[in-house]
Amino acid sequence: MPPQRDIGLYIHVPLCRQRCHFCAFYLEIATPARIEAFLSALQRELILYRQQNLLAGRALQSIYFGGGTPTVIPALQLAALLDRIRNLYSVTPDVEVTVEAHPSTVTPSDLMILAKAGFNRISLGAESMAPQDFIPIGRPGTISETEQAVVNARTAGFSNINLDLMYGLPGQSLASWTTTVQSLLRLNPTHISCYALTIEDHTKLARDIAKGLVPAPDETLQVEMEEAAETVLASAGFTRYEISNYARPGYACRHNLLYWTDGDYLGLGPSAQSYVAGSRFGNIADLDAYAGQLRNDRLPITDRRVLTNEEQQRDALIFGLRLLKGVSNNLAIEDAGQRDILTQLTERGLIVNEHDRITLTPLGRRFADSVASELF
Ligand code: SF4
Repeated sequence: MPPQRDIGLYIHVPLCRQRCHFCAFYLEIATPARIEAFLSALQRELILYRQQNLLAGRALQSIYFGGGTPTVIPALQLAALLDRIRNLYSVTPDVEVTVEAHPSTVTPSDLMILAKAGFNRISLGAESMAPQDFIPIGRPGTISETEQAVVNARTAGFSNINLDLMYGLPGQSLASWTTTVQSLLRLNPTHISCYALTIEDHTKLARDIAKGLVPAPDETLQVEMEEAAETVLASAGFTRYEISNYARPGYACRHNLLYWTDGDYLGLGPSAQSYVAGSRFGNIADLDAYAGQLRNDRLPITDRRVLTNEEQQRDALIFGLRLLKGVSNNLAIEDAGQRDILTQLTERGLIVNEHDRITLTPLGRRFADSVASELF
């Protein structure tokens, strides 16, 4: 019997206090009624999957509460939810349990409750350490709230703290970005994610750029910012292990590694995506429709696809290439069509195939999405 793949659970909370100007995710504004609707439907979804025994007894090696903003849900209710998950599913003794949080949504006592409940990793959306960067992107909150949230999280017992940053923000200079990264390092996180701002259609930011109110991102500057971040973070002891992710030794995010190392994940909540035992499936992106299906004891899945072995290999290659260590070349060369594409990508200097591994070159990392779509 082949070894069973690692599996994690993802809980998607599609609720925020307000919508940031760049955000195109499905989400709703958090009110007590919407939080209640979400939580009661989620309980039903957890039970239905447990009854179906989809995980076949496999223990969860990670649980990740993402969003949206999971911490718009009161901490005691998040703690109760985690408790419920542990009662319904097996977890490994060293399970990684992450909660994403907006710094303005967590008080010291919330953080104490979450740490005591078993959350052992927190991911705070810092986005920038320069207050002027928040205005064009409509990101609420202040820099001091970020700083205070990190201090409070550590006091509560979180020793594994991720901080998210965005670069290429309107009006942001290379010098200001470098200062942001350096200021963030003073907070002593274990993990940092750096995402380039992308402009999504139908967002307020896209409309503001079209009206000339806000400058469009400069791709050349974004590349310089990415290089600067890698240099500053490397000199501070962080290893870049994925295109957007840097960690101190031993602190790579175990849950996100599942996505890039061909692991399984079950996603619950409106719009959550899953990959379990060779099937990809996704939930409906509408809280009322999601809750309605679950009230009738039906899983709120809108699309499901069983992947062939070749498709599974292709996906493992595409996602694995996001890792700096790439993928084993044994994985990729079974399919003749993909072998041809890989040869072309090599000739164009986007990937290298050496020491039994295929990796993106620095140029390939810049065009990672195009590489992925060519391989798809
Ligand atoms: S906090 Fe995140 S999910 Fe919520 S609106 Fe802002 S970017 Fe979107």
